[in-house]
Formats: sequence, structure tokens, C-alpha cells
Amino acid sequence: MTNNNMIFIANWKMNGEKKHISDIDKAINFSKKLKNKKIKIVYCPPYTLISKIKNKVKNTNIKVGAQNIHFINDYGAFTGLINSKLIKSAGADYVIIGHSENRSFESDLIINKKIISALKENLKVIFCIGETYREKKNNSTFKVLKRQISIALKNIEKINNIIFAYEPRWAIGTGKIPKLAELNKNFNYINNLISKSKKKQTYQIIYGGSVNSKNALELLKIKDLKGFLIGSASLKSKNFIDIIKKSIN
Ligand code: PEP
Repeated sequence: MTNNNMIFIANWKMNGEKKHISDIDKAINFSKKLKNKKIKIVYCPPYTLISKIKNKVKNTNIKVGAQNIHFINDYGAFTGLINSKLIKSAGADYVIIGHSENRSFESDLIINKKIISALKENLKVIFCIGETYREKKNNSTFKVLKRQISIALKNIEKINNIIFAYEPRWAIGTGKIPKLAELNKNFNYINNLISKSKKKQTYQIIYGGSVNSKNALELLKIKDLKGFLIGSASLKSKNFIDIIKKSIN
């Protein structure tokens, strides 16, 4: 299978210092060879590295994103917080919103406000959805996905700048991935839900949760998969590139 229009997003989480940036050179060299394809590569480092990585990848087709934002779109007295305007001015083109590791601190309504704020600044949103293990066992995955998607998209007309990242929360950082049949069922559900409410709009659904170069080929069988959100396997560019190579060859 050749997937020429996939997106590969590296989520560095709370990792990465200035000295680690040189590792991205491998991804830069790799991406240069890809220039005729529609493959997108995005690095989401901690805030502290956004402008440095942006500088490093200038003149390449690699983009930079942030891992979260505050929901308030204006400047103001919010000590220690960072909003969509600030990440945009630091060089981000993308932002991850609703990541599983933050969902315990934020409601679906806050996530909705964050998405609205990000879209207002012309950022592309990587919107994470997914069920916990308990919710999966209770057969409430669809119910959870429906709630997460419908509240997050409230008052949002255009979704073409939203990438839906299906990340079962129990698969993140655990080395476990869902079975293909389960993934197809959940992708299909998400697809139907979005396309019903946002008719004729284009959007992408990607997968995240313990993706590595060993399981990538199996995950690539997911119908309508348009990319991966990758945590630990993205910390070293070599591993990240291996996944991309498997996906596009
Ligand atoms: C993530 O950070 O979104 C993620 C999927 O992490 P990991 O690949 O480490 O499971």
C-alpha cells in the first residue's frame, strides 16, 4: 500500500533539551528526499524548543506544533500559561488538544474552547479522542467518542483544519494496541459521526498509542487511516523515520 498523503506527528511530551535538537537533522535529510510526495511531518516538542526547532526546519517541509494551549485567546494575567497567540508567534503551525495525559485536568467544554482559540489563530488542531480501558470493558467506547467529539465541535463550522487523533487511552505508552477489527470499528464510527454532522468537509483521522516500527505495518491496515501520532518512538529520529518509511513504501 502506498500512502502519499499521510501525516506523522512526533509528540515529545516532557522530553527534549537544546542538545537533543541535532537529532532532527536525520528527519530533515529524510524529508528532503520526500519533496515530491504529500507526506507531512510535524514535531511537537515542549514549548521551550518550539522556536529553536522552527528555526532548524526552516526551508524544509517539516512543521512544528505545541502540545497544549490555554483556552483563553487573549493576552492577560495567566501566570505560567501559554495560549494560541503565543505558540503561533513562537513558530507553531499545529497544536495537540485533548491529549489523554491532560484529559484528567480538562473537561470536554474546555477542550472545545481550546479548539476554537487555536482555529482563530489559524493553527491546525490535532484533536485527541479515545476511551479508557474501563470504558472499553464497559462497552462504552462509542458513547465516549460521541461525547468527546460532539462537545469539542460545538460552535465550530469548519473542520478542515482539525486532525482527529484516535488514541485509546489505554494504548498510550503501554506497548498495547487494539486489534485491527476493533480499530476499524472505531474508525468507522468516528468517520460516520463526523461526516454526518459536517457534511462534505474534508478531515483526517489518524491513530496514536504505542506505535512503533514493529507494529506500524499492522496498524497501516486500518481503513481510512491518514497518519500516526507517535510518542516515545518519536524521541529518536531514526525510529520515527523507520515508521514513516514503513508507512509510505
Ligand atoms: C502520544 O503521546 O500521543 C502517544 C501515542 O504516545 P506513545 O506513542 O508513547 O504511546
